Amino acid sequence: MPGKNLSREEAQQRAGILAVDSYRVRLDVTSAPDPAAATFRSTTTVAFRCSQPGAGTFLDLLAPAVRSVTLNGRTLDPATAYDGARVHIDGLAAENVLTVEADCAYSRTGQGLHRFVDPADGETYLYTHFEPADARRVFANFEQPDLKAAFSFTVAAPAAWDVRSNAVHENVTVEGDARTWEFAPTRPISTYLTAVVAGPYHVATDHYSRELADGTTLEIPLSALCRKSLAPYFDAEEILGVTKLGLDFFHEEFDYPYPFGKYDQAFVPEYNIGAMENPGCVTFKEEFVFRSKVTDAAYESRANVVLHEMAHMWFGDLVTPRWWDDLWLKESFADFMGSYGLIGAHTRYSSAWVTFANQRKAWAYEQDQFPTTHPITADIRDLEDAKLNFDGITYAKGASVLKQLVAYVGSDAFFEGARRYFKRHAFGNTELADLLGVLEETSGRDLKSWSAAWLQTAGVNALTPQVTTDAEGRITELAVLQDGDVLRPHRIAVGLYDRDADGALVRTERIELDVTGARTVVAEALGRPRPALVLLNDEDLTYCKIRFDADSLETLRGDLGGIRDELARALAWSAVWNLTRDGLMPARDYVALVLRFAGREGNIGVLQSLHAQARTAVDLYADPAWRAEGARQLADGALRELREAVPGSDHQLAWARFLAQTAGGAEHLGLVRGLLAGSARIDGLEVDQELRWALWLALAAAGQAGDEELAAELAADNTAGGQRQYAQCLAARPTPEAKAAAWSAVIDSDELPGALVRANAAGFSIPAQRDLTSLYAAPYFKLLEKVWTERSIETAVLIVGGFFPIAQTGEQTLAEADAWLDGHPQAAPALRRLVLEHRDDLARALRAQACDRA
Ligand SMILES: [Zn+2]
Repeated sequence: MPGKNLSREEAQQRAGILAVDSYRVRLDVTSAPDPAAATFRSTTTVAFRCSQPGAGTFLDLLAPAVRSVTLNGRTLDPATAYDGARVHIDGLAAENVLTVEADCAYSRTGQGLHRFVDPADGETYLYTHFEPADARRVFANFEQPDLKAAFSFTVAAPAAWDVRSNAVHENVTVEGDARTWEFAPTRPISTYLTAVVAGPYHVATDHYSRELADGTTLEIPLSALCRKSLAPYFDAEEILGVTKLGLDFFHEEFDYPYPFGKYDQAFVPEYNIGAMENPGCVTFKEEFVFRSKVTDAAYESRANVVLHEMAHMWFGDLVTPRWWDDLWLKESFADFMGSYGLIGAHTRYSSAWVTFANQRKAWAYEQDQFPTTHPITADIRDLEDAKLNFDGITYAKGASVLKQLVAYVGSDAFFEGARRYFKRHAFGNTELADLLGVLEETSGRDLKSWSAAWLQTAGVNALTPQVTTDAEGRITELAVLQDGDVLRPHRIAVGLYDRDADGALVRTERIELDVTGARTVVAEALGRPRPALVLLNDEDLTYCKIRFDADSLETLRGDLGGIRDELARALAWSAVWNLTRDGLMPARDYVALVLRFAGREGNIGVLQSLHAQARTAVDLYADPAWRAEGARQLADGALRELREAVPGSDHQLAWARFLAQTAGGAEHLGLVRGLLAGSARIDGLEVDQELRWALWLALAAAGQAGDEELAAELAADNTAGGQRQYAQCLAARPTPEAKAAAWSAVIDSDELPGALVRANAAGFSIPAQRDLTSLYAAPYFKLLEKVWTERSIETAVLIVGGFFPIAQTGEQTLAEADAWLDGHPQAAPALRRLVLEHRDDLARALRAQACDRA
């Protein structure tokens, strides 16, 4: 569709002549419960000024039908004014009023106004998701972040429904079966931040108030929403508790009163992403409502997201990037604040920086080593670029670099800079220079070279210690070697570790210094006894890959689990995983470390990453000749640790899930079946609904789950979550028919919502079933362009990633990927980027396998 992919130049031109004052948006969703109703009525009236009277411009709108267009009282013919993506208007006055009346479509893909029917009770639920540019699926507008305006929503909905939007409702009128909600005008916000949530939602309420410096009291009504059928599982008190701690904390740090009135947090079905920071009306994926026991890592992750979205109320919503080049300005900041806030707000998640070091950074390292990596400040030409930029660089690397910036300028200067930034740019739009400007003011440091090195170049450095000692074992020199295409200034701490009286590895020295250039000598280490372990980037201040000297690596091989400090231990785990990914440590050695020390790992989040990484090591990085042996070792290890874990503990649950993921032999599968049937028991392990599905998946993948058994499990759990799990189990069965059905369900129809595309792809792509799925590699490459052009970009991304033949780790698949890339130089850049990244994963797997073979 021409005009659907708005370019940066077009946005700049439009912002150059327009200023938007207000939108009145009226939506009639009374038809939503009727499955036959495909559309809803949408009427937008926008008041805007034009600095070049007589000029023309366009609004964005993706709607099946436009009924009328009226500009300054003049009626335009929709047949000529509307081209399917844009409403073209010309002859603008200095002040304009435009009304567009359209029929917009209910969505099933998660973009626009998503409609979901709850299988548990037949109720219908709606919510919007617009970032980066899907408000145009719900109402006509100027869809770009720097044309902010006040929005007044009016929504007509079934009378029994609750309706929420960014602002509070001012008036509700009932007429027959319909109830009409009129919402107060918002402060100036961007189109992508507007929101409507509507349905018979369950609502929990609370209240936050705070004395402000000027003597007034800030009152913020709080609510948390989820589907009615999830209400029994909804721990709203915990969520609202974190919310109140966060509001306290961010008011202290930001010194700018929360600007959006009330604070609703809606947990919504079939959400494609974790959450979205709509001002006053945050949306979250409802998988954050836990139907079964989950580990504390899941609660921490949810609390982190609550604080991430809350930080956006200031950084992103109050002050908004001008265009998607500076998406990182808001995402890196919010990502950093998610972890920083968990500690600073005194939540119970005191290991937030461990999680950040171990998991968030792993995402950044991965993305930053693809050939497609980019500087944190990206070059975003258009909306397709923008959609792929919600990546590990924008979020995790950006947040890591902000953590380094805090170490570099000091946290006082950093937060004073943030305070000035909010006050100076409130309700406006900014670029990188605006942030650097305030930070230079508050820190007194020139940040241009820092920014050039960290924000405007791509790639990750590796830091390696080089230790020389004399005959007495004293350090004659400790140097830090820096590798990488661009060498950067790193503020780091170096930890020297030795065994204490109990034999634990503890830090005996901490040396903080600036590392610059290819080789930096750590002067303070001179003359000290050679420690058992030299840990660079201790405390995780900078963003880098850590390497070890040979003696330190020997120490880790023998005693990684003996590091007492959990952050230092997490850094060591992360470093040996990077060695494995880089083909510098055989996969089987990494697996041996996990099998030896994971049972002692106290941090539950780290343990769960170790489980995932150990599986990847066996599935992709191990010599194929050793794979079966490696898989058996993992399953045996899982069974052993499951039996030894503390009854009822998170660790026990994690090992039970790991057993389900690795079970292959008769003994393991027998236990799985016994746990499901109730004939086997592990003391303290409750086999609840989610664990049941995990166990069924193990049996399904092994070809030991009958159709009737799976159907019976679905009948007992006929919920949205149950349907996803059921679909994954069906796709996981090791038969040609099951693979064909999963492939067809996704490829031959565009009816599946993202959650079910994901479930089918996950079941289809089980690595151990590579013989069954190998014949889909060729059709996959043949279909790529068709999928990209015919499906929404969100669904296409899921398909391209979910079905890439990564498990076919052979030169032939690599050749097929290269042939596609060579043969499709004109394919959409965003599609080429994805294929390049998956191709790179494959090449990495082959390098790691070569290391493991040797
Ligand atoms: Zn965010």
